[in-house]
Amino acid sequence: MKWLKRFMRFNGGFKNIIILMVITFASLLLLQRLMEMSRHVHVIGYSVFLDKVENAEVKQVYVDGQEVRGLLKDNTLFQTIVPENGVDWQFLRTKGIDFALSNQSDYSYYWYMMLLILLIVIFGTIWFMVKRSQGMGSGGNIFSMGKSKARMFMPSTIKETFASVAGAEEAKEELHDIIDYLRNPKKYRRLGAKMTRGVLLIGEPGNGKTLLARAVAGEANCPFFSVSGSDFIEVFVGVGAARVRDLFLQARRHAPSIIFIDEIDAVGRHRGSGLGGGHDEREQTLNQLLTEMDGFLQMNESPVIVIAATNRPDVLDKALLRPGRFDRQVHVPFPDLKSREAILKVHADMVKMDPSVDLHKIARGTPGFSGADLANLINESAIEASKQESELINVHHLENARDKILLGKEVKSIMLTEEDKKIIAYHESGHALARLLMPETTSPLHKVTIIPRGKALGVTHSMPEREKYITSKEEMEAEVISALGGRAAEEIIFQRLTTGAYSDFKAATDIVRKMVCNYGMVPEELGTILYVQDQSQYQYSEKTSEKIDAAVRAIMENCYKRCIQMFKDNRDKLDLLATTLLEKETMYASEIYELLNIEPRTEHTFS
Ligand code: ADP
Ligand code: ZN
Repeated sequence: MKWLKRFMRFNGGFKNIIILMVITFASLLLLQRLMEMSRHVHVIGYSVFLDKVENAEVKQVYVDGQEVRGLLKDNTLFQTIVPENGVDWQFLRTKGIDFALSNQSDYSYYWYMMLLILLIVIFGTIWFMVKRSQGMGSGGNIFSMGKSKARMFMPSTIKETFASVAGAEEAKEELHDIIDYLRNPKKYRRLGAKMTRGVLLIGEPGNGKTLLARAVAGEANCPFFSVSGSDFIEVFVGVGAARVRDLFLQARRHAPSIIFIDEIDAVGRHRGSGLGGGHDEREQTLNQLLTEMDGFLQMNESPVIVIAATNRPDVLDKALLRPGRFDRQVHVPFPDLKSREAILKVHADMVKMDPSVDLHKIARGTPGFSGADLANLINESAIEASKQESELINVHHLENARDKILLGKEVKSIMLTEEDKKIIAYHESGHALARLLMPETTSPLHKVTIIPRGKALGVTHSMPEREKYITSKEEMEAEVISALGGRAAEEIIFQRLTTGAYSDFKAATDIVRKMVCNYGMVPEELGTILYVQDQSQYQYSEKTSEKIDAAVRAIMENCYKRCIQMFKDNRDKLDLLATTLLEKETMYASEIYELLNIEPRTEHTFS
């Protein structure tokens, strides 16, 4: 089999052979056709044929079942069909005509077609497999089960540097000496320092882990092998391990180089915690990875650094995190306000942005967005602007894009009755007014809208002034109150309960549960203890569980009461806001301050 393997190994030569064969084959077919066509064949009737035989005009006859072809004495070709009930062809002999008989009608033609189809199928299959192995990456061939699926990038194709990564200053700083080491390993070896071999990037998806890894390769000017943890997993035991071996082999061949393993948790989970089948395979793969990481450093050998990414460091096998393996962990968190602004800047520079757009404000309006979300925001607004054939991207496009990303598209088809609209207007006014009436403890209002979007029938946005690192009990309560504000307003005005407050309740309950269980902001008898149920070391009793429920309920009820009271005291403002909103559909904070004659807190709109 070895020679076949070698022959099949995908390379330019093999590809060319196939192309050549296909072309030759096709041109042969074409040539034959052309030759047939170049000699005109007369189709004649049976009786005419008999006449011609009678008049001794026929020179040759070839009978194939019912089909008769032949040559006349004046060298024209003819063709005819004879009746089904056999003809006694011996009469041709009496006329001295050269003839041949064949009863296997179209037999040769049939085989010819079969062969053609077979050849097409064979070539098609080979072609497909070659294409596929090519898609699988470097050195792939049709027997490439054990080949790594990693994609290799040469330094010249890596455009990313640290300049392309906005924010993430701590992460960059941590990665700096890795780059220095890759560039100049001797400097570290001189004193016998053992440099790290693995870096674990920890962070939620979209926060730029891949980007950082590529930027390290870009800065160090070395090849980059990119692979996902799930690429190692195959149903066949041993394949993953073989792929790991192959990956490291290639990386070492190109050292100094970087291996990037995205979603390492796919292979790196604790051993023995196999979820269903196939965990044998995963264990072998993981063991191979550990062996490779232990083994690949010899003096004077160029370094290979493994960078792995995960958002679940807690599930990783402890062996992976031991010294000499992924002993360096770099957190890549959600970007804070300053980083968000910087990321927006990087991506805004790639599109045509109206220079008057204040990216700082956009950053303020996008708390919790990941780097990828921000990139998407800029892109969506560019699409929005293109659709409207604007010259530049402006704040309205950005505002629209943000709402679309957060909540989904505007729903134009939805039919709401006047009564429904009124309820929604009061509901949103409730959220908004709660914020306005508790300026000390809530983040400032940004806008209110009752235009349905995605699943939401209306939305109240607020916009934090700055990044918050510490939140007080009062602030948490105020958030709960403004979340419950929608329901409270509905109840005061319409004296009935609707289903529209589900997500508000969820948000409020989440906050209150955290107050009780995580932060010890609780009634005396529960005390300042952490109650987190999903971590086994903090199990608590049934009795405590009841107390927690009671405490949560008490806080919720208290907040709701406070909200109702607040709205009763400010009924005029609630009515005015709701009726105006019903008419305008979308209102920005500045308009609302003016309408209700409330002291504005800070600038609240993008524009
Ligand atoms: P992860 O690997 O953490 O899931 P990626 O590195 O794939 O995230 O990031 C996705 C995209 O988000 C990047 O291609 C980039 O456009 C954008 N992005 C994320 N973080 C940043 C950042 N700090 N600076 C600039 N762009 C970023
Ligand atoms: Zn609501």
